[in-house]
Amino acid sequence: MRAGGQRTLVTGGAGFLGSHVCDALIRRGDDVLCVDNFHTGTRGNIAALLGHPRFTLLQHDVTVPLDVDVERIFNLACPASPAHYQRDPVRTTLTCVQGAMNMLALAQRRRARILQASTSEVYGDPEVHPQPESYWGRVNPISLRSCYTEGKRCAETLFFDYHRQHALEIKVVRIFNTYGPRMGVDDGRVVSNFIVQALRGEDITLHGDGSQTRAFCYVDDLVEGLLAAMDAPAGFTGPVNLGNPAELSMRELAERVRRLSGSTSRIVQQPLPPDDPRLRRPDIALAAQALDWRPRIGLDDGLKETIAYFRALLQA
Ligand code: NAD
Ligand code: UDP
Repeated sequence: MRAGGQRTLVTGGAGFLGSHVCDALIRRGDDVLCVDNFHTGTRGNIAALLGHPRFTLLQHDVTVPLDVDVERIFNLACPASPAHYQRDPVRTTLTCVQGAMNMLALAQRRRARILQASTSEVYGDPEVHPQPESYWGRVNPISLRSCYTEGKRCAETLFFDYHRQHALEIKVVRIFNTYGPRMGVDDGRVVSNFIVQALRGEDITLHGDGSQTRAFCYVDDLVEGLLAAMDAPAGFTGPVNLGNPAELSMRELAERVRRLSGSTSRIVQQPLPPDDPRLRRPDIALAAQALDWRPRIGLDDGLKETIAYFRALLQA
């Protein structure tokens, strides 16, 4: 299938990642239908697209069936920050599972190609490090994170069953921690929390002793990876990891944010939330080989862009 010029649906298109995906699709000539219920997304994220002749916004909840004429679907609708997805956990599971069901049914009806935004969270608190796609994960089914983790795992199951049962063209992408402009001030994830706290001169809230690790990917790199996965030949289903393997501890991240933002905030410890994964780092060999994709933007450069974005937002 050629890249560009398609009728493309983006669920969660007013969110952090979704709005950048909409931008990229408009740039390459697609007709974009953005579906969002504004649970965590905002009109501000898509403000620049609202008057565009190839952009349409539909306020809709993906847990409700939808019938629209599309050729491609990026299924991104789901709160991604633990603070948000744990606020109404039953609804989070429903969004993951029922949302996937509804979008798969739509894809089947329209014979559309469909991409699922899955997550590194499917690996749980991993015993294998870094995590390759072949690792099945170590997941607690009854923790505060499980609504998201198990919801996303079940969505992957649905995608592969639709693929096997109905010969649907699927792409399953496991996204690792991604950051950048358009994260909300109240998003609750670590990069935005640390930057907002540093810029406001508030205490930087480090969970636990800060020795737990993550590996952060800048949003522009990630969006390129999502488009590459969608454009991959029909035989490629994934799952495929997308992320930046540059791993660091949360204490190192706090210190780096403080330095890059010129802040004098104190770094203070708070209790580590239960089931917080100890380590996380993507093995991206498959993405490099199958999609010819690798991240290009280093953490310092990405953090500088993100700090500039939050600085402007807080001054507005
Ligand atoms: P986000 O919270 O900024 O965006 C999610 C979007 O989905 C929001 O616009 C929200 O309003 C919308 N939404 C939520 N529930 C909905 C529903 N029931 N119906 C319609 N719209 C709904 O999060 P994000 O970081 O942009 O994440 C986007 C996707 O990528 C999510 O599926 C998330 O699980 C996945 N992901 C993101 C990351 C990351 O680091 N950003 C990592 C792994 C996976
Ligand atoms: N974290 C932290 N301070 C915060 C928010 C998060 O130390 O204010 C920690 C969190 O406990 C986890 C890591 O940073 O160990 C990444 O958290 P985030 O919520 O961004 O993503 P996830 O845990 O889903 O990877």
